Amino acid sequence: MNDEQRVRDILDLNKRKNLIGGNWVDSLSGETLAIENPATGEIIAHVPRAGAADIDLAVKEARRAFEARSWRNMRASDRGRLLESIARKLEEHADELAFLEALDTGKAVSFAKILDLPAAIEVFRYMGGWCSKIAGKTLPVSFDGKEYHAYTRREAVGVVGAITPWNYPLALGAWKIASALAAGCTMVIKPTELTPLSTLRLVELCLEAGLPEGVLNVINGHGHEAGAALAQHPDVNKITFTGSTAVGKKIVEYSLGNLKRVTLELGGKSPSIVFDDADLDQVGLGAALAVFFNSGQICFAATRLFVQENVYDQVVEAVAAAAQQFTVGNGLDPQTMLGPLVSAKQQDRVLGYIESGVAQGARLVCGGKRIGDKGYFVEPTVFADATPSMKIVSEEIFGPVVSVMKFKDVEEVTRMANDSQYGLAANIWTRDIKKAHKLAHRLEAGSVWINCHGILDPALPFGGFKQSGWGREVSEEGLLAYTETKTVCMLLDE
Ligand code: NAD
Repeated sequence: MNDEQRVRDILDLNKRKNLIGGNWVDSLSGETLAIENPATGEIIAHVPRAGAADIDLAVKEARRAFEARSWRNMRASDRGRLLESIARKLEEHADELAFLEALDTGKAVSFAKILDLPAAIEVFRYMGGWCSKIAGKTLPVSFDGKEYHAYTRREAVGVVGAITPWNYPLALGAWKIASALAAGCTMVIKPTELTPLSTLRLVELCLEAGLPEGVLNVINGHGHEAGAALAQHPDVNKITFTGSTAVGKKIVEYSLGNLKRVTLELGGKSPSIVFDDADLDQVGLGAALAVFFNSGQICFAATRLFVQENVYDQVVEAVAAAAQQFTVGNGLDPQTMLGPLVSAKQQDRVLGYIESGVAQGARLVCGGKRIGDKGYFVEPTVFADATPSMKIVSEEIFGPVVSVMKFKDVEEVTRMANDSQYGLAANIWTRDIKKAHKLAHRLEAGSVWINCHGILDPALPFGGFKQSGWGREVSEEGLLAYTETKTVCMLLDE
């Protein structure tokens, strides 16, 4: 089967509608949104453009499924088995999902297979294991000397609204869905309007695996319409949002009405820190991948590269050499390492930042230009001699652009690295173990990787300090964020 047939088959197969209580439906207005292939600019699908009334119907179904109690009170081992069945379904359809994700986001299909798919599959498996281990505690009561029996329960928080971005829609959607389902919640998910296709297929596969109707609902639409309605809805108990810091702040405002629980995974401007005692043969490629992977469209992309002064020139050269070796092209080509940016708007934004870097006096070492006239490609771009006041250093670009700066010692680089409104992640390249751990403790970042970057695992909490977010996703901590603690206390004395 050639790629064109494959695309047609997948898109036919996919319902590409809203899912409300087990039924695939159009938006009430009948309006749709066009979905593009960012490698070519061609329209590949249409999805419903939903608004507040569609959201309301979906929330009602999620509420009904929650109140029916059959889902949250299902035997824990059965719920765990169901999540495991979803993991197996995703495995069976892994090639198809990777292809769909590459088609819709533009990313390299080869990387989608080895990263996005395992991330989505394994979180269902991991959270499936947790279902039978969500437990409270028995607690001593010293109140008035009488005998009490006191204990806590972890109860599902209720109806969850999930809103996801376009860079890793499948994996990030899976993180939210698997965690909420394991806790016994029901959900309405609104994927990004730019790349919703893999989420629609994921939800369809969840139903095929046996997930009861109404437990998981999906609504397509714009952020300011469907997304805002979901975050404002008075019958949604929790919002879990991944996206930009600017929209994250709006989500907080929207949530105030009924004081929703809120988890936010937001933007970043992560530092890479290279010491002169690092394995310099490894650093060039490592630091380049830390920023250019997925064409820089990663929240934890290490876009500020700090290099110790005596190896500065050598590392700038090595990173630029690696950047120029990456194969940039259509993500569906198995040879491609870096695909296009997701949209014309994002391409313009990134090119604007590159112009500002030049205008503000950074030294352009390589890249800086648009590639071709079809699709939204931008060359991997390295700026040296950047300074903290430049826009390319202080603002999140979300594209393939790195700014390199020089430092003297640990003290100085700690200050420079922490000088950011963001605090999502950081990496350190050194062979000195003590220095690595001391610095790791001082960095204001939710994840610190030493001699590696971007190692995500369902067991590892993920989230940000400062304006990179609130709370953590995946891991035990991420799961418990979908629960409320209830304290039960009973007097035993007559
Ligand atoms: P975005 O904030 O523009 O959109 C994210 C989602 O929010 C989309 O579904 C969008 O429709 C919705 N949205 C937009 N406006 C809204 C509104 N007013 N009300 C409710 N929902 C609204 O982000 P993006 O451009 O899709 O993604 C890129 C951003 O996401 C970057 O800042 C990146 O750092 C961040 N991100 C963070 C993480 C993380 O885990 N920390 C992961 C991936 C991406």
